[in-house]
Amino acid sequence: MNSSPKTRKRVLSGMRPTGKLHLGNYVGALQNWVRMQDEYECYFCVVDWHALTTDYADTSRVKENSLEVVFDWLAAGLDPERSVLFLQSHVPAHAELHLLLSMITPLGWLERVPTYKEQRENIKDKDLGTYGFLGYPLLQAADILIYKADVVPVGEDQVAHIELTREIARRFSSFYGEVFPEPQSLLTPAPKLPGTDGRKMSKSYGNTIMLADPEPVVRQKLKTMVTDPARVRRSDPGNPDVCPVGDLHKIFSSRETMAKVYEGCRSAGIGCIECKGWAADALVQLLNPMQERRKKFEENPRLAWDILEAGTERARKAAGETMKDVRAAMGMSLEYEGPSN
Ligand code: SF4
Repeated sequence: MNSSPKTRKRVLSGMRPTGKLHLGNYVGALQNWVRMQDEYECYFCVVDWHALTTDYADTSRVKENSLEVVFDWLAAGLDPERSVLFLQSHVPAHAELHLLLSMITPLGWLERVPTYKEQRENIKDKDLGTYGFLGYPLLQAADILIYKADVVPVGEDQVAHIELTREIARRFSSFYGEVFPEPQSLLTPAPKLPGTDGRKMSKSYGNTIMLADPEPVVRQKLKTMVTDPARVRRSDPGNPDVCPVGDLHKIFSSRETMAKVYEGCRSAGIGCIECKGWAADALVQLLNPMQERRKKFEENPRLAWDILEAGTERARKAAGETMKDVRAAMGMSLEYEGPSN
């Protein structure tokens, strides 16, 4: 096979174009991606086709939301010199591989993917009885395999998708010979990150703290955040282990602050307002440098778009190499192989 040699293990991961990212996206994935750049050859993809698998009816904001995601990637420290940042829909080979894989994928494999059943049951406001929605884990498999990724960072809920990808790679090999390495899941440690109402931070709950929220907004959101329900009055002792603000401290505050929180909360020596102020300090310290970097791209979005275009070109090349291998393995290359007469 004629793919270019890889010196470092290759990582592929993607995010849907959901618009501005929040702290949950940062802690659950982006922070880890930034770190991975030191060790791996990274491909990070805005998976705009995936957005259409559920939100096909209104595509008016997909492009704008893709750009917002890239602003936050660059702000958080993804480095286009080291990582390939690209837009899925402009690497058409993903669709070609998806089609070829669809020929060999038994329907039952897709129907038993846990998120397929769950989301069909839970999402009532749109019709997910579509071919695109059933096939979305297969598109994800194509996204991964087309870069011959060795490693895919995932949360717990995505492990089944990587297992499916591995099964598909094996099935492809059994028919046509080995082209794809079987990718490994790399479980991202995802600390519990509550939103302002104490539930998991999520845009659909309206409880997010955004990476781009200015300092006064962060402080205001913290002020209204729920706390340990047992701490009704200032004189009641509380417990940071059952308080969402305590969870924020555990992720973002220094050890010294954490010690003050435990001591002050349990002895009722501090009030919640003071404690929330410390959590806000830690967040602002994290977000300020990101927002400084983001400003440059907000003021000149073309800069971010150029980065995305250049990355997409690099991705197209890598994907094109794999497709040559795929077509050769399937006996469908364009090279003439008949008699030379
Ligand atoms: S003092 Fe802090 S940790 Fe304790 S209940 Fe109040 S906000 Fe939560």
